Amino acid sequence: MIPLARPDITDREKRAVSEVLDSGLLALGPKLKAFEQNIATYVGTKYAVACNSGTSALHMLIRALDIKDGDEVITTPFSFVASSNCMLYEGAKPVFVDIDEKTYNMDISQIEAKITDRTKAILPVHVFGQPVNMDEVRRIALKHGLAVIEDSCEAIGSEWKGRKAGSMSDAGVLAFYPNKQITTGEGGVVVTNSEDIAKLCYSLRNQGRGIDTQWLHHIRLGYNYRMSDISAALGIAQLERIEEIIARRQQVADLYIDKLKDVEGIVLPTLDENVRMSWFVFVIRFESWVDRGLVLEMLLDRGVACRPYFTAIHLQPLYTDMFGYKEGDFPVTERVAGGTLAIPFFNKITEEQIDTVVTEIKRAARYAAIADPEARFKKLWEDVG
Ligand SMILES: *Cc1c(COP(=O)(O)O)cnc(C)c1O
Repeated sequence: MIPLARPDITDREKRAVSEVLDSGLLALGPKLKAFEQNIATYVGTKYAVACNSGTSALHMLIRALDIKDGDEVITTPFSFVASSNCMLYEGAKPVFVDIDEKTYNMDISQIEAKITDRTKAILPVHVFGQPVNMDEVRRIALKHGLAVIEDSCEAIGSEWKGRKAGSMSDAGVLAFYPNKQITTGEGGVVVTNSEDIAKLCYSLRNQGRGIDTQWLHHIRLGYNYRMSDISAALGIAQLERIEEIIARRQQVADLYIDKLKDVEGIVLPTLDENVRMSWFVFVIRFESWVDRGLVLEMLLDRGVACRPYFTAIHLQPLYTDMFGYKEGDFPVTERVAGGTLAIPFFNKITEEQIDTVVTEIKRAARYAAIADPEARFKKLWEDVG
């Protein structure tokens, strides 16, 4: 089986972890501080607060920005569920805008129509690594007095007009699950220029302790969202290779683009000209006249791992139950989600493996396409509605 993703861990990185184990300082030690400093330097923010997952980091920011019961946050339904769940933890409501059919990012032009008295923030997600147009998001936020949280969990190292994802708003979040560009096993980080936000996050991740107070002095409701020094040591070593990793992933993406560009029925990723890409996943999209479900089955059968990516958040059972969303509420998201497929994408994938993936995709796409041109046209027409 050619896997969908695979972490890339060097011997040097294994040694770094092993050294922490030998040191006896496994938590809240020097590696955590060093990792935070290095992340802040890389992203270009004053502060970085590491924690045990990207989801925890998002949750802490919702708390730090005092977003609570009854408040609304404008975001995208085409994302990993954590970017909306973080609001539910505090009783706030994710308010969705549909996406742009080309970039798959939230459609900026629809944000203002969704702003109400209860709107507190905008939470854009840099989907698959491609940054949202942050000039526009910031302009809208400023005009309406809203906070901005950048979910950059898929976009470490990506840039919008030369600025790093996560550094263009009140605060951003990066994540380090093993399928991300770099990993700490499990892990996440809040990046921000705000001392207040950083201080609150230090406290929230560590049981609501006061900073510089006694160990058993808890001044607010906090969590155990800490990152271990074992994870941090792995993160430090991985981050040292980030540019090399981004370049390698670009190479893999270029190979896929070159080999798949003329295949009928497949839409390749579209990048905005202001974007420097750090590829998280490689996602292709099938035209509506290709049966994506059948392609998926055939690829899995031939040993090529792949996955529909994403499934729309508003149609997840939790969200239909809570908010009564139904099919048709966000048509572009649904159309895109119905056709996308993430294919094997990792640093160490070989050109031979890439060729196998491409061959199998071509075969499957041909087989799963509706052959009759008239029926195809009808399907396309229905799709456009
Ligand atoms: C990975 C990811 C997260 C965080 O996931 P964790 O598993 O909690 O680290 C959040 N948002 C998006 C869009 C992601 O892809």
